[in-house]
Amino acid sequence: MKPENQHEPNMDVSRRSFIKMAGTGLVVSTIGCSGDPSGGEGWMPSQYEGNGNFPPQVRGRIPIDPNNLSITRDDRKCILCGQCAEVCSKVETVLYNYELPLIDNIPCIGCGQCTLWCPTGAITETDGLTELIKALDDPNKHVVAQTAPSTRVALGEEFGLPAGTNVEERQVAALKSLGFDTVLDTNFSADLTIMEEATELVQRITGKVNAPIPQFTSCCPGWVRYCEYFYPDLLPNLSSAKSPMSMLGAMIKTYYAEKSGIDPKKIFSVAIMPCTAKKFEAGRPEMNHSGLKIGDPSIRDTDLVITTRELANLIKLRGLDLLKLEPVHYDNLLSEYSGAGAIFGVTGGVMEAAVRTAYAQISGEKPPALLFNLQPVRGLAGMKEAALEIPNHGEVRVAVVAGMGNTHKVLERVQNGTGHWHFIEFMACPGGCISGGGQPRTALPPSDAVRSARINALYNVDERAAVRLCHENPEIKTVYKDYLGTPNEGIAHALLHTHYENYSSHLTKKQKMSE
Ligand code: SF4
Ligand code: SF4
Ligand code: SF4
Repeated sequence: MKPENQHEPNMDVSRRSFIKMAGTGLVVSTIGCSGDPSGGEGWMPSQYEGNGNFPPQVRGRIPIDPNNLSITRDDRKCILCGQCAEVCSKVETVLYNYELPLIDNIPCIGCGQCTLWCPTGAITETDGLTELIKALDDPNKHVVAQTAPSTRVALGEEFGLPAGTNVEERQVAALKSLGFDTVLDTNFSADLTIMEEATELVQRITGKVNAPIPQFTSCCPGWVRYCEYFYPDLLPNLSSAKSPMSMLGAMIKTYYAEKSGIDPKKIFSVAIMPCTAKKFEAGRPEMNHSGLKIGDPSIRDTDLVITTRELANLIKLRGLDLLKLEPVHYDNLLSEYSGAGAIFGVTGGVMEAAVRTAYAQISGEKPPALLFNLQPVRGLAGMKEAALEIPNHGEVRVAVVAGMGNTHKVLERVQNGTGHWHFIEFMACPGGCISGGGQPRTALPPSDAVRSARINALYNVDERAAVRLCHENPEIKTVYKDYLGTPNEGIAHALLHTHYENYSSHLTKKQKMSE
């Protein structure tokens, strides 16, 4: 007789042991089942659709740290298909680019591209809605939203509209209907970012500050963390300018609070982003520049980030029909933007916007027509370059990189001195933020057709804009005159700039990442 707690052999086959058996070549038949995949034809990823043993191929999957602020996984939905590992290792070159054993956390740049490739929706952004609903229901909180350039050209896809439909004012209407007290536009602070970043670029290339060139953009938290993990020797090349989200966060708790007569402690500042990495950017300890200015370091620049998908979920949860809402304008303060700010969501857009303003700052002249349609930095190529002649200075060479897998050859050339660029834009997501890890899963995996539709929508905003230069945005001029002073100095520097950490000690980098 067996002890009560002893199972019969093979009676308790866990998923892990099942996979082990399959891996040893054990044939598992599906007698009595139809040949159709369980979710119906067309549901299963192609690797599962072949005849023969089930599963034909089981691949690894990404590990996710339980404390990851950007992404999470519901193991009940995971079919071990390996799509997340594929995008993380091949497109973003994070997974498998460090040695085991792990040191003290699981490396991840938070880009969320795995959420766009996961066929079952097992990987999602970490939940922000629970906290948001609590804040919206709290009468003592003044809840302010800011919306990124890219959410407006993707949100509509969740409600059946074609990819790239611009729902800017319906998005504002939805946020107001959901109970937000104020809705501001991150496009405004994209202009602000260019003011700071272009000023810093000019200071670097004219030798006014002792900082290395090329200057790297710093608005993508996925890229920033990537540089902190894998290329810490190049951190001095990163612009110290904060991202548009974090700049506007700091302005909301200071300038907006003062102008509106609201106690900053009562403000709950929510960023609606196409991005999962913004969730950990908001949580970085140093993102409390508004708190430091006000004298209470516990005050955060941004209290919460939710993705475009989460906003769509909340709109549906509350029974609102986006398509039936009457368009509403953004609130008046901190929402005016130029066409240059609008294209921040596109790979090459930050570069085009910065070059327009840097040209004007260096030459004292209006940028030529070429800079309002800078074709060499447009399009979906992973690496693009351009060179332009600036009067009173000479040639300025720029590069644009999207997808972290495309960074290595560029960064190695910067390291060995053979890359002669002055300014390089880096974005973690292929195509830029329009295809960020928090955007609707309109095509699975993401397609260039969807990316291009969203990109074209943002270029259309730029083309139609009355003001197409960040430094000519009237509200930008007012804010510097009345409050910030001179770019990259005094209050502007204290509120709008940051610093970076060497994170390389958290992993052991693999050699030869460019191969
Ligand atoms: S969020 Fe990005 S870096 Fe993190 S696991 Fe997913 S693909 Fe990899
Ligand atoms: S892509 Fe999704 S279903 Fe496939 S292994 Fe990764 S988490 Fe699991
Ligand atoms: S490219 Fe944009 S969406 Fe993607 S990680 Fe960077 S900031 Fe986020």
